[in-house]
Amino acid sequence: MVEQKFVAYKCRSCGRVMNPKHDRCLTCKGMEFDEIELPKVGKLVTYTKLYALPQGIEALPPLTLGIVDFDGVRVLGQLTTDEPAIGMSLRPVWGKIRKLNDKDIYGFKFEPVS
Ligand SMILES: [Zn+2]
Repeated sequence: MVEQKFVAYKCRSCGRVMNPKHDRCLTCKGMEFDEIELPKVGKLVTYTKLYALPQGIEALPPLTLGIVDFDGVRVLGQLTTDEPAIGMSLRPVWGKIRKLNDKDIYGFKFEPVS
């Protein structure tokens, strides 16, 4: 499996940092971005558990989604733990997130750092 870089995208016009990438900056509609590296470890800001999962997600409910803060950049993603705690340290791991029309979709999940 190809190792993916965990990065964010910084707008060249206004400096807003986004993850995931959008075609246009959410603040100024700018279309040029620089990739910036994010810290290896983030902190859990908040989380929610989903008991009714959208079709195509290969996981047994509940699915835990969290918002993880990487030096001020907040990223939404699945957590690999069923026992999240606000403020816990998490690191991004690349893996299969779900199937969509029989195609595997890959993305980052967040795993507790012990
Ligand atoms: Zn901008």
